[in-house]
Amino acid sequence: MDQGLNQANQTEVRADVNIHVSLWGFRQCPWASPESVAHVLEMLPKHLLLGLAHIRYLSQALVPSTTTWVSAPGNVSLSGVYSQEDRTILIQAVHSRAKLFHVLFHELGHHIYFAVLDSVEKKRWVVDIWGSEDPVSEYGKRNAAEDFAELFALYLRGTSLLIDRPIKTRFLRETLLRSKAVPLEAIRAVVNDEGNMEG
Ligand SMILES: [Zn+2]
Repeated sequence: MDQGLNQANQTEVRADVNIHVSLWGFRQCPWASPESVAHVLEMLPKHLLLGLAHIRYLSQALVPSTTTWVSAPGNVSLSGVYSQEDRTILIQAVHSRAKLFHVLFHELGHHIYFAVLDSVEKKRWVVDIWGSEDPVSEYGKRNAAEDFAELFALYLRGTSLLIDRPIKTRFLRETLLRSKAVPLEAIRAVVNDEGNMEG
C-alpha cells in the first residue's frame, strides 16, 4: 500500500487504481493528523472505499439552519454527513479523537450502505437482520440505515456494545467484510489512542 501523499492541506489515500480518496482539513483537526486518518483507511478492505471521493474535516461547525442536514441547534449527534451525490463525507468540529473516528466510521457506513452493498445484501439487512436484534445504539433506533452505520462504527471501534448482537455482527463479518481478516487490533489502537494529540 502506498503512503498518503502529503500536500499542503490534502492527503491522498491511494489503495489501488480504483480508489482515490482525498482528505481535506485534517491539518486543522486537533484530534488526528491526515496521516493517521489515511493509515486507518488503508487498513480497511479496499472494496469498502470504492466510489468515495472526499473526506472533509471542518474545524468550525456550520451554522444550524443554513444547511439541509443540520436540523436543530444543539443536536450533538449531527457531527457528520455523507453526501451520496458528491460521494463526500463531512465531519465537523468534534471534541475528541474517539468521536472523530466514530463519526468517520458512521458516515463511511452510510457510503457503504448506499454504494457498496448490493441490492440482495441490502434487502437482507432491512428485511431479515435489522429487526432481528435491538438497535445497536440510541442513534441506531432511527431506521435501518442509521443502525447499519452505527453497527459499522461500533464494530471498528471495538466497543462491548455488540456482544449481544451476534446476528448483526455476523452479517457484517460475512457479508460486508467477506470474512476477510481486518486488522481490528491495529485499527483500534490508532482510533483509541487518546494520549496522542496530534496537531
Ligand atoms: Zn447517520
